[in-house]
Amino acid sequence: MKITDIKTYVLVADNADVSLTSSAQDTVLVIVETDEGITGYGETDTNPWVVKALIQSPGTHTMDQSMKDILIGMDPLDIDNCWKSLYVGTAMTGRRGAGVNAIGAIDMALWDIKGKFENKPIFELLGGKVHETITPYASLQPLGTSFEEYRDSLVEWAEKAKNLGFKAVKSEVTMNGPYSHNGMDEDDDKHTRVIEAVRKALGPDIELMVDVQYKWETAEQALRTVKDWKEFNIYFLETPVWTDNLDDYARMHEEAPMKIAAGEWLSTVHEFKDLIERGKVDVAQPDIGRVGGLTEAKKVSNIVDENNIIIVPHCWKTSISISATAHFAFNTPSCRFIEYLPPQLCHETLRRELAIEGFDFINGLIQLPTKSGLGIEINEDAVKKYRVD
Ligand SMILES: [Mg+2]
Repeated sequence: MKITDIKTYVLVADNADVSLTSSAQDTVLVIVETDEGITGYGETDTNPWVVKALIQSPGTHTMDQSMKDILIGMDPLDIDNCWKSLYVGTAMTGRRGAGVNAIGAIDMALWDIKGKFENKPIFELLGGKVHETITPYASLQPLGTSFEEYRDSLVEWAEKAKNLGFKAVKSEVTMNGPYSHNGMDEDDDKHTRVIEAVRKALGPDIELMVDVQYKWETAEQALRTVKDWKEFNIYFLETPVWTDNLDDYARMHEEAPMKIAAGEWLSTVHEFKDLIERGKVDVAQPDIGRVGGLTEAKKVSNIVDENNIIIVPHCWKTSISISATAHFAFNTPSCRFIEYLPPQLCHETLRRELAIEGFDFINGLIQLPTKSGLGIEINEDAVKKYRVD
């Protein structure tokens, strides 16, 4: 089999608002076509126009080739060779960040092709299932422009998730810092009050994760507040400090009264090695598209095992990425949870409309996928409706 074309569609929801922090308002749909009529789909969570440019641009010299030109004519079933050719062939522009994010979308599409060709779900190609079901956590999506509205909205979401049978939820609590909603700027004590209210609404039996989205610069600042959060029995605290401050992460690991999670923005196993070995995080959170696809995520899984920690992948995109994440989870022993909301509950248009996910969600648990490849069904009408480039 040979790759004959790579298409990249930029999709933007009709209700997208650039002042919001949700990256699920847009996506880049990467479509890899072959001479045997098998088509693979992938996406990645970064600026979709940038990914389109990275994949479609012409090359300028041997170490800065065109991704599209590299791939055309290659065997899509030889995924390692495709990955390495893309990584080395674009090294001067790519190698980390958006370059690897783009490879991640292509890699996802290649696994989809391989699964369709062999008539197997991707988790089987990766080595088979190591879990019977996957426990998702619901990401709560607060609204509001004041402390009271924000808190009440999270409590309402927590109750909704509990009623849907979720065994775990993640509450973002971000009323200041870079991800702050709607210009809110509330003090740290109010963040404690929000977590207290969410824990009370959930009761003691549901796992509660908290994402403060890089709200502090240093461990010193973070610990002043989070040292008092032990009583809320938080499963993990996500990204308490800026992503590059690895020594602060190590200090959080030593002194905070809960597990520390990070890694959603990282690309390649090399960045995870630093995060795990120097930053000493307890929970690695690769995003399958951003890290470089399923191929690279499995390498992260290997160093997670070597360091005896756990993995809880990040995913805030459409059913394409969510399905890829589920396949990864079923084959990854250290994977404890994945991020998931049923599409009908999401505010995000593309999450609801772009594709039907490749698994069933029953009694709060994700069931083993049975369809070949990613198992998704793309909604061509949604592609037409939301395509802007
Ligand atoms: Mg996060």
